[in-house]
Amino acid sequence: MSKTIVLTGAGGVLCSTLAEALAKKGHNVAVLDLRKEAADKVAEDITKLGGKAIGVEANVLEKDSLIKAKQEVNNAFGKCDILVNGAGGNHPLGTTSNPFFQMEDLNNTTEGFKSFFDLDAKGIEFTFNLNFLGTLLPTQIFAKDMVGRDGCSILNISSMNAFTPLTKIPAYSGAKAAVSNFTQWLAVHFSKVGIRVNALAPGFFLTDQNRSLLTKEDGSLTQRGQQIIDQTPMGRYGEPEDLVGTTLWLCSDASKFVTGVVVPIDGGFAAYSGV
Ligand code: NAD
Repeated sequence: MSKTIVLTGAGGVLCSTLAEALAKKGHNVAVLDLRKEAADKVAEDITKLGGKAIGVEANVLEKDSLIKAKQEVNNAFGKCDILVNGAGGNHPLGTTSNPFFQMEDLNNTTEGFKSFFDLDAKGIEFTFNLNFLGTLLPTQIFAKDMVGRDGCSILNISSMNAFTPLTKIPAYSGAKAAVSNFTQWLAVHFSKVGIRVNALAPGFFLTDQNRSLLTKEDGSLTQRGQQIIDQTPMGRYGEPEDLVGTTLWLCSDASKFVTGVVVPIDGGFAAYSGV
């Protein structure tokens, strides 16, 4: 049955792929993003392929913007059945330069160097807001359409770093741990009114946000990039398409007794101790 599916951050790499895949299954897709042109482009591409999609400008951190977006979605397609909370990301001011603190870090005055003691509250706040509040606020707005109706669900995008934090990115790891925790909380909270709540925990996918950290200009891997591949039993980065199967499953009635799960899609990264 065709559903109306709202995806936030869907002008981006991973969720635009999910939007296309869901549209191919015959669903109405609302592509929400802070960047209106990016959202429109994704919607246009879907429409060209014969799917039903609209691009909608929305800031996941502003309720008024989300209320306006919901109105646009409702006018175009009716009530929202499924929400994919995809907007998220990290901030450089919440990231340390080194994976391990060293004595000499205390006196490192190199421009741009950040030890734990240099982490900036603003960068940490940005990251927690975007990932956690940016999941909670759209849910408050769009889940109102779902209460008491059959076949409705929410899919959050957490990360494999929510299970075990990655070095250098305490804010992003903590914020995604909050998203996983909230997924379980909300699954329980909405369990009596027919809304299932689950999450994906993607491993490493090469995207614009992390490309320069993981690959050099000639395309070869940085030290961190190689470390990731060595820690990934399946020996490669993820491709956006790797998220599609689990998304279709969690957004369909095939998973109708599944709620509160966070599914790692990481080539075995989270399962591997390294030995
Ligand atoms: P991306 O940067 O390509 O896409 C994120 C999108 O969110 C962008 O289009 C951006 O414009 C939009 N956005 C940013 N702030 C927004 C706001 N306030 N309101 C609305 N939209 C906003 O990133 P991606 O790699 O496609 O990531 C998608 C999701 O997957 C994120 O939640 C990310 O944290 C998560 N994730 C990514 C990876 C990875 O390896 N790329 C791994 C695990 C989890």
